[in-house]
Amino acid sequence: MPSISQRVEEHSISSSAALTSASISSPFGLPLDPHELKGKALTTPYNLLLSTNYLLSNTIFNYKLPGQFEESENIDNILSLWANLQRKNLNKKTPKIHNLDIRSGSGDLLFGYLNNAKEHEHISVVLSNAALTHMEPVLLKYHGTYNSLPISFQVSAVDFNSQNGNLVSTSAAALSVARNLKLPVLTSFNGVEAQHFSIVSSVLAQLKVANVHLFDGLASLKTNQTIGAVLPSSQIDEISKKLYAALSDKIEKVHSTSKISLALSELNKILNTNYQPFEQYGDKNAETTFVVYSTSEQTVNLFKQIPKINSKVGVIVARVPLPFETAEFNKLVFKNSKKLVVVTEALGATNSLKLDIQASLFFDGVFIEVVDASYPSGVEFGATQLESLLNQHILTSEIASAGSFFRFITNDNSRFIDVPSKITHSLSLVPDLNIKYRPKFDNSLNAGLFQVDLQVGNVVGNRVDVTFVEDAAILNKLNVLKDLKPSGSVLVLGAVDEKFDEEKLITKTLSTKTKQLLAAKKFNLTFLDLNAIGDEEGTKGRTSSIAIQVAFWKLAYPELDVAAIVTKILQAFGSEAELLAAVIAEEVEKIQEIGLKEIKYSEDWLKLELAEEEDVPFAEFKETSFKPNPREDFIDETVVKVENSNQVTKKLMFKEAYGVDTALRPDLPVENFIVKVKENKRLTPAEYSRNIFHIEFDITGTGLKYNIGEALGVHGRNNPQLVDQFIELYGLNPNDLVEVVSKENEQIFEIRTLRQALIENIDLLGKPPKRFYESLAEFTKDDKEKAKLTELVSPAGAELLKTFQDEKFYNYIDIFEIFKSARPSAQDLVQIIPPLKRREYSIASSQKLHPNEVHLLIVVVDWVDTNGNVRYGQCSKYLSDLAVGQELVVSVKPSIMKLPPKTTQPIVMAGLGTGLAPFKAFLEERQYQLEQGQEIGEAYLYLGSRHKREEYLYGEYWESFMAAGVLTHLGAAFSRDQPQKVYIQDKIRENINELTELIAQKTGHFYLCGPTWPVPDITACLEDVLEKDAGERGVKIDSAKEVEEMKEDGRYVLEVY
Ligand SMILES: Cc1cc2nc3c(=O)[nH]c(=O)nc-3n(C[C@H](O)[C@H](O)[C@H](O)COP(=O)(O)OP(=O)(O)OC[C@H]3O[C@@H](n4cnc5c(N)ncnc54)[C@H](O)[C@@H]3O)c2cc1C
Repeated sequence: MPSISQRVEEHSISSSAALTSASISSPFGLPLDPHELKGKALTTPYNLLLSTNYLLSNTIFNYKLPGQFEESENIDNILSLWANLQRKNLNKKTPKIHNLDIRSGSGDLLFGYLNNAKEHEHISVVLSNAALTHMEPVLLKYHGTYNSLPISFQVSAVDFNSQNGNLVSTSAAALSVARNLKLPVLTSFNGVEAQHFSIVSSVLAQLKVANVHLFDGLASLKTNQTIGAVLPSSQIDEISKKLYAALSDKIEKVHSTSKISLALSELNKILNTNYQPFEQYGDKNAETTFVVYSTSEQTVNLFKQIPKINSKVGVIVARVPLPFETAEFNKLVFKNSKKLVVVTEALGATNSLKLDIQASLFFDGVFIEVVDASYPSGVEFGATQLESLLNQHILTSEIASAGSFFRFITNDNSRFIDVPSKITHSLSLVPDLNIKYRPKFDNSLNAGLFQVDLQVGNVVGNRVDVTFVEDAAILNKLNVLKDLKPSGSVLVLGAVDEKFDEEKLITKTLSTKTKQLLAAKKFNLTFLDLNAIGDEEGTKGRTSSIAIQVAFWKLAYPELDVAAIVTKILQAFGSEAELLAAVIAEEVEKIQEIGLKEIKYSEDWLKLELAEEEDVPFAEFKETSFKPNPREDFIDETVVKVENSNQVTKKLMFKEAYGVDTALRPDLPVENFIVKVKENKRLTPAEYSRNIFHIEFDITGTGLKYNIGEALGVHGRNNPQLVDQFIELYGLNPNDLVEVVSKENEQIFEIRTLRQALIENIDLLGKPPKRFYESLAEFTKDDKEKAKLTELVSPAGAELLKTFQDEKFYNYIDIFEIFKSARPSAQDLVQIIPPLKRREYSIASSQKLHPNEVHLLIVVVDWVDTNGNVRYGQCSKYLSDLAVGQELVVSVKPSIMKLPPKTTQPIVMAGLGTGLAPFKAFLEERQYQLEQGQEIGEAYLYLGSRHKREEYLYGEYWESFMAAGVLTHLGAAFSRDQPQKVYIQDKIRENINELTELIAQKTGHFYLCGPTWPVPDITACLEDVLEKDAGERGVKIDSAKEVEEMKEDGRYVLEVY
């Protein structure tokens, strides 16, 4: 293996222009010309396949892959990119690329096209496993003719599993379609083969042999890697012509089952290769032989290792699964074989390959035991599966691992998301080193995670040497030790703005489950203390990225010295930054000295008890998408501009002298947490006037704890687009730094850019009070405007002020549009507009049932001003617009909405609209109590809305609580669903007898939540209940007074807003 510390001056990326399009998905950039790929290339097998097809075809039908997005995304549509750039094929033409969606009936277009096509024209169809399934009925319509059509299907074994939301590599459905349609299938296992078989497939199509070239799904699409011996376009031309000439007079003469093997043998003559329909490895007389069919290079390579560790075992890899060439297979058969184990992906109940093999052997009178070892469709067959298969059949499980395997897991909006591609880039500059960079996105976990698997050298198996994890939350969420080698390391990033505190880290940050896992597997953690390293002047803005790279090199290749690491870092940044080697060398030393901290596991951790909410399995990283969750970053980076040499800048630059503390919204005395949106779903129909929505936040790893009935304080943001428009209209510099004084605690201030402050701190869309107009008058240059402002705040202007405030509903932006000469400076502006206040929302979930989630039920506040414009409440609108994965700051507010002290005490709940939120939490808590075997009291729920169809919020959920015995009675009043109006209080009155028993005799609690208007009616119901009870007891009471007492005792709880 080459030394990775080797320095090279030249890099081997095929075109430096390509680097301009480098991204985290394709760190070596995209080839901008299919003629550019040759020799040793850094690209994906898929790009190679597409380029070969592009060069050989005049017409390509390109069906969208699952997980593929807009056409503008080059990664998914490199064919169109080349066509748009007018890149020519081998016929000196720009191919026509038809980009198509998959739908039923896909395929009619192809036949229509071919009917009108010129003689000798062939087409390439690029599609997925799933798309071929959609085409099957159309192809069957042309029964008998399609086999002789000039089509080559380039099928990637990829699909989207809608049941679990994963992208998966699978070829089972494509194989089944090909079997039904009697289409021959040729399989390539790597980039070089993908190119060779694209040529075969295209030449066969030219000779009117419709065929399928199947290649691996996700790995070939996404693994950016070193591919050696890539054919240049001139050679592709030459080979395809030779192959065409060799086959043209023979192909018609051979039986349809032998056309592919004929093509392979002719290709072998031209390329000096040894492709066979079935390729055999190991001793031909082996006792046990594994017959493997897979499109995965990794799986095939794993099997090829087996004969090396056990000479009694042989392996046959099926390259041409269809048509099954009996003669070719039986040629291989092994005199002393006792058992054939058929390993293939299962589709339905039958293992078709096994049946083919059995039939084939039977034909020749060979009787060997044939065993089915199919694995579920869509499951990656890795080292673990292989080990268990070997244990079953040959009693050995040691698969030697070779090469190095590194894994990086970050949030998908991380500042450090490009670090793995930077490291990969430096590694790509080491000559003769094979690398594979495989990015994956899980959009559902922690509201969006990004994982890169980086393989260096010829890796066998999937055991990891170093895992880098961006934060402890990820460590607590995923079992990162699962694939780690016993000698492997885990590198975790410490928070940039938090002092490293080992004690706190162990007791608070690491979950008990994580600690137990570390202790059980005897792993220490390496922490990178970014806080201690700080942001160095010479590498400003890049210090943390450099620190991570240094830590990686230290753990992955401990033999590297400072000079070698410095070279790696300079290579990683390339021309992106002007970095001085001497500066980096100093930092590398500093990082090694003070940045890396080892957290040793303790045997005692094994004795720790798991809290209930932690007693859930670790999550699995699933590949759900080809890109990150779409969202905005939560907090902009503060831009410190030197020309802004005012007090504020100084304060930021000399933090200690000025006592500036950086914290998450330091103005707020309560504890804040950053959470991520997990789900945001409108519950009312789109055409309905009220938008009521259910929103869930993922709080994994944040330490946020809440009790039943508590509310969530939400720090909404002002719409960034509106703020940007305002800044432009006003003529401000968004990067000016301003000091925002906390109104709640005047001792503390924070420094932000003006843009940040207007988005996050200032109530720009709120209602300007009279004193604002007073202050504004001082900044107005125009006499007329000044006079108007003065009038507005005088007694004579009261009427006009009312119009401004309560009819026109002008906000601050509107006012600055009206008073154009009033332009306070950025700093004055943020002082005269009051701060943005957090809003509260009743929590609609129980943490017992949802340990890592908070649910809210919210209505978007909206109204129309006298100009007919719809206006929205600041926070409810902000929340309704949040996309999954977006982050926000929240806090927990204590509440009086508490469940009764005893689980057996009855609860009566009345809620209108979003007032139902805390009752969902109540019932979930009761469900939990029931599941724990506790006795629970009666629960009555009353709800009201206009129509069941539009506002039966959580309707099915309540019904399921009824079915589970958690809810005793559901009284739903849909006021307008029948001729006479029925309100919530009518429903309550229907149960006066039962309620008397529950409230008065069984000391039940009564809760009312939501808007204020039903309070008098419902309070009257409660008074009636108390009077009825008093009547039954023969006593006289002052029911109003008793209700007040119930309130004081916390037995009549109102949460109205
Ligand atoms: C304990 C508690 C629990 C709550 N629970 C929930 C819940 O579960 N679900 C829920 O949906 N809500 C709940 N709320 C209400 C919630 O806190 C907010 O008040 C609500 O969402 C409105 O906030 P907003 O920012 O959208 O509207 P805001 O921007 O605050 O507007 C509110 C009102 O202010 C007026 N206004 C706003 N801007 C202007 C202007 N420029 N000029 C003149 N007038 C203006 C309008 O009358 C408007 O209706 C709860 C409140 C409390 C106190």
